[in-house]
Amino acid sequence: MRILLVEDDATLGEGLQTGLRRAGFAVEWLQDGQTADAALHTESFAALVLDLGLPRLSGLDLLHRLRSRGDSTPTLLLTARDHVDDRIRGLDGGADDYVVKPVAIGELAARIRALVRRSQGVAGAQLAAAGITLDPASRLVRAHGEPVELSPREFAVLQELLLHAGRVLTRQQLESRLYEWDQSLESNAIEVHVHHLRRKLGASVITTVRGVGYLIPRPEPDIDG
Ligand code: CA
Repeated sequence: MRILLVEDDATLGEGLQTGLRRAGFAVEWLQDGQTADAALHTESFAALVLDLGLPRLSGLDLLHRLRSRGDSTPTLLLTARDHVDDRIRGLDGGADDYVVKPVAIGELAARIRALVRRSQGVAGAQLAAAGITLDPASRLVRAHGEPVELSPREFAVLQELLLHAGRVLTRQQLESRLYEWDQSLESNAIEVHVHHLRRKLGASVITTVRGVGYLIPRPEPDIDG
């Protein structure tokens, strides 16, 4: 899943981008509030990781603009340890969570996963549908109980489809959620990943909605639950 990181400190920004990429996120990193605001106008992100002290437009002002125009992108603030007032203003201003600098990458990644899960209305930590389970933290995938090896891209496509189970995702939506702006992309990349996923997970797991996109059906609710 693709997230937007806004942090003006070059060393910290680079460290966070590298760490979050290792944790499996596609990460766009921008260094000022104005540019981030423009990016959020035109692109959709699974989550926003936002520093408060930013040039051109502060993190709080950016957040205010975002929420004022009805953009509910899950937002996690990066704040200094002793700036309690910032955290209060941020949370009251529409942020969903925060982490205190210096940031532990493992904790930041776990909090982003939790925010995205909540924003999609997924209760459990594991994603499950159509006999497939996917654990975003351990990156373990099982098909009917059996572990399955997936490439990072295949994992990312499957994760998006499971997060949005019951909804059709277009090829363009999948592309924009998976790839970073500077990565070149074969025009049939998504089709190829879906083809491989079907081979590994079973042909019927992913449905093609002709002319629209792909879908994993929403799991049936438990009869007794
Ligand atoms: Ca800063």
